[in-house]
Amino acid sequence: MATVSAKGVSKLFGTFKALDDVSIDFDDGGFYGLLGPSGSGKTTLLRLIAGFEFPDSGSISIGGEAVERVPTEKRDVGMMFQSYALFPNMSVFDNVAFGLTVRRLPASEIRKRVGEALQLVRLDGLDQRRPHQLSGGQRQRVALARAIVIRPRVLLLDEPLSALDKALRTGMQVELKRIQREIGITTIFVTHDQEEALTLSDRIGVLREGRLVQEGAPRDIYERPNSAFAATFLGDANLFEGAVEDGAVRLAGGPLVRTDDPLPAAGASVTVAVRPERMTVRLEGDDSGPEHNEIGAQVEAAIFAGNSLTYHLKRGDMPIRVFVQNSGAAPVAAGTPVRLTWQPAHTIVVSR
Ligand code: ATP
Repeated sequence: MATVSAKGVSKLFGTFKALDDVSIDFDDGGFYGLLGPSGSGKTTLLRLIAGFEFPDSGSISIGGEAVERVPTEKRDVGMMFQSYALFPNMSVFDNVAFGLTVRRLPASEIRKRVGEALQLVRLDGLDQRRPHQLSGGQRQRVALARAIVIRPRVLLLDEPLSALDKALRTGMQVELKRIQREIGITTIFVTHDQEEALTLSDRIGVLREGRLVQEGAPRDIYERPNSAFAATFLGDANLFEGAVEDGAVRLAGGPLVRTDDPLPAAGASVTVAVRPERMTVRLEGDDSGPEHNEIGAQVEAAIFAGNSLTYHLKRGDMPIRVFVQNSGAAPVAAGTPVRLTWQPAHTIVVSR
């Protein structure tokens, strides 16, 4: 187990900056998610930690030791990448044993360790099967057993569950989290699936165009995104433009919206984000409730999704979404003018 740290890391491919001055610490034993759109540099950062690429500037350390010039095989990292190809003509046992066999461990030690790894991923009893006799989820677990059997200090996972269908994926997320907790290994995984990042990670780093734009606990990033990008990439957000006035934000088109966040000087332009589940839809005559912010809008559609309902609304030309729990009540009909209310604490000031 070890701390992994990147300091001021930049990586160029020709003149293209795939990573731009990225600094991030991955604490010992933590489960870290790297999240960002396609091409934002997630895999490149993982490959630099693994030693498949070398930084143009900055430094990477594992367990406090600088590793920029240490070759992959000496870094003591376990890896499971998107294409987790197993050896098709080898048994599950031999696939998992591979890393130990090349390290020339004694046969008895190999048997013991492979047995433990298979037990951990709940595949004991299947050790003589060939990969084609396994389900997708079982193959994934063989790949995971193969990565952890060498007892690496760090586990790197690149889109580990992307090949699985939704149901298997959810099951494997729970398994992955359990296994990571049991062995307590520092784990860094790449995903572009925000739900997966929120479910698995102790901390998340959000990347955009090679830069780390926010880093923190999933809940903190969700509740306090620092930019419009982070607000919309991790979760859904309604964004409003306005100008500071009387310690609040005057939205384009009228209403004054309060926030608990610090604001710049009067007159400054600001963007605020409001999560769709924080807004309440109220009919014209309804009581305003205890929420202090209120804007008018019109319902365009109410989309039923089983346990919840999504309202698509318009305020002038501006689309707004509101999520509500399905209470069993009939939804507000399309075309109805409504008022949307929410609390100042849920008005998040973000950078554009
Ligand atoms: P995805 O979610 O699509 O896997 P990513 O965030 O992992 O994306 P990277 O694979 O890190 O993105 O790539 C970052 C950028 O660097 C991309 O624009 C990619 O085209 C570029 N890139 C990556 N590897 C190379 C390479 N070997 N040569 C040239 N460009 C590269």
